[in-house]
Amino acid sequence: MIEAEGLTKFYGPRRAIRNVSFQIEKGEVVGFLGPNGAGKSTTIRILTCYMPPSEGTATVEGMHILEDSLRIRQKIGYLPENVPLYNDLTVNRFLRFAAGAKGVEAKRMRSELGRVISSCGLEKVENRIIGHLSKGFRQRVGLAQALLNNPSVLILDEPTIGLDPTQIVEIRRIIEELREDRTILLSSHILPEVAQICKRVIIINKGEIVATDSPANLTSQLQKTSTILVELSGPSAEFAQAIENLDGIQKVTVENNGTSRFQIETAPSVDLRPEIAALAVQKGCGLLELRAVQLSLEDIFMQLVTEESTQEGAE
Ligand code: ADP
Repeated sequence: MIEAEGLTKFYGPRRAIRNVSFQIEKGEVVGFLGPNGAGKSTTIRILTCYMPPSEGTATVEGMHILEDSLRIRQKIGYLPENVPLYNDLTVNRFLRFAAGAKGVEAKRMRSELGRVISSCGLEKVENRIIGHLSKGFRQRVGLAQALLNNPSVLILDEPTIGLDPTQIVEIRRIIEELREDRTILLSSHILPEVAQICKRVIIINKGEIVATDSPANLTSQLQKTSTILVELSGPSAEFAQAIENLDGIQKVTVENNGTSRFQIETAPSVDLRPEIAALAVQKGCGLLELRAVQLSLEDIFMQLVTEESTQEGAE
């Protein structure tokens, strides 16, 4: 379990985060989402005891970040944004060294290294020099290091940054496998990534938490309109006119390009698809497509971030 309460951090005069509070329950996989510079790494560095907050406090598995910092660092798995790997060591030597620093006893060393090497698919590169590995494999070494001592809490800061699509899929697969019995906090500025892996998302913008909920709840709460896409063949002027008169319609835009593609915005509480379909038939149009457009996490995120800056502009 992770609990942050009123975390604020100044770098000199500059405030990076302000009054950041959240709770992550045992066994939850939570996404920490925000644009670059929002304060994700700052929050994570505080939770992993790499620096103290200016104000506020936090506990990880009941341990206090200021009083138990050494214990927290030994107990949790942390993948920093830039993994400090020793480039001239072999994978095996590096992991042995990291395991020692995490307090893994000599008699458990072999089995512990075997376990993390297998979890992260590092068997083939175990004896290679880290500096000669691809970025994807180096990231796996970073993850393997975080998994030493089998931590029940994993904190991963932008685990897929700088990787190519194949490597991203691989790292995501490894994270999926790790989720069992673990509390995971995963930061990212990439929305689909978080939506795929996490049941709950904490969104941070300009140093402050702006929302926290499941991707599905965020969508329904923030959805101000529903959008329906309709594609028709044949003349559609009469349909266009009639649609404007339906109750609940907010905005209609149309694109004519051989066929007519209507984008129809309605109030979120109504589903006008049956009426729209009936109207298309009644007006003698060929109904090629009719579907509701889901608001993506990306749309919600943009909405939250823009709302913030609009409010700021109004102040
Ligand atoms: P994120 O991880 O979301 O990209 P960061 O936590 O790295 O955001 O940064 C939050 C803000 O704090 C940014 O404005 C960044 O420029 C600033 N910042 C981060 N690290 C430092 C530092 N060591 N010294 C001064 N400012 C910093």
